[in-house]
Amino acid sequence: MPELPEVETVRRGLDRWVTGRTIGTVEVLHPRAVRRHAPGVADFVAALAGRRVDAVRRRGKYLWLPLDGRDALLGHLGMSGQLLVQPAGAPDETHLRVRFGFADGGPQLRFVDQRTFGGLAYSRGGAVLPAELAHIARDPLDPEFDDEAFVARVRGRRTAVKRALLDQTLISGIGNIYADEALWRSGLYWGRGTGTLPCPVVRSLLGHVREVLVEAIGSGGTSFDALYVNVNGRSGYFDRSLAVYGRQGAPCPRCGAPVVREPFANRSSFFCPHCQPAGSGEGQGRGGATRTGSVRLRARSRAAVSLDEYRSPRAR
Ligand SMILES: [Zn+2]
Repeated sequence: MPELPEVETVRRGLDRWVTGRTIGTVEVLHPRAVRRHAPGVADFVAALAGRRVDAVRRRGKYLWLPLDGRDALLGHLGMSGQLLVQPAGAPDETHLRVRFGFADGGPQLRFVDQRTFGGLAYSRGGAVLPAELAHIARDPLDPEFDDEAFVARVRGRRTAVKRALLDQTLISGIGNIYADEALWRSGLYWGRGTGTLPCPVVRSLLGHVREVLVEAIGSGGTSFDALYVNVNGRSGYFDRSLAVYGRQGAPCPRCGAPVVREPFANRSSFFCPHCQPAGSGEGQGRGGATRTGSVRLRARSRAAVSLDEYRSPRAR
């Protein structure tokens, strides 16, 4: 499933290709793609035709296109959704669900979704932030993300640290891939209790989350199951940089111990048993902080894009 770096890569492509253009015709080829729009297909089509796209925005794994400063087109890629920019004459994709033509007759925006877990909706009054997304926390690359509030909330939970990272009401945009990678960089076992984590360890974990997300955006995201592509249909290549995710049995890039997979919430957690020992308590916390220091330097030097660069107005 696409996580923040993949959705951000799509957002940047859409921003380049559709911002400032006026939607002409809307064609829904499969009603399931707009099932979240309660008034139905005809209303969806009528609401969007003739509307100008102001920008392309993202919160966590969701995208929205503000329209005429008032409303918005809301999108979620689900497991296999793709938002493609295609020449008007290009043949239909096998799993084409919704087609947007533009008044200028230029390239179309196409929503393609093999498994139809993703979808589009029209959000009345949703230009600034669709009401549908109000419950989703800011993501860690959002300039208004509150680090200290996050640290306090994580330490107040009684849960596994990986569950906290995946909780979209606490921090958004992170899924299995980047949770496992950030925990590896931090030297933390996925099942470590959040209540046992000292403040500096949580701050350091947040730093590693940001580093891995920014690096992944620099690579165009991770195309782990071959279904995620950018708006031009190309795959990301961050999967080559993954340290533990999907690598059970392969050597840990830091210490060489074989990466272990454990079941987690019907999915898996991947970790290095040497760098991320299971267990909890204050002693573990201090050890974690020490390990984190050395890993951090290494990760820093590898980062292709700095957070400041990511946050510059031009990049956003
Ligand atoms: Zn290791």
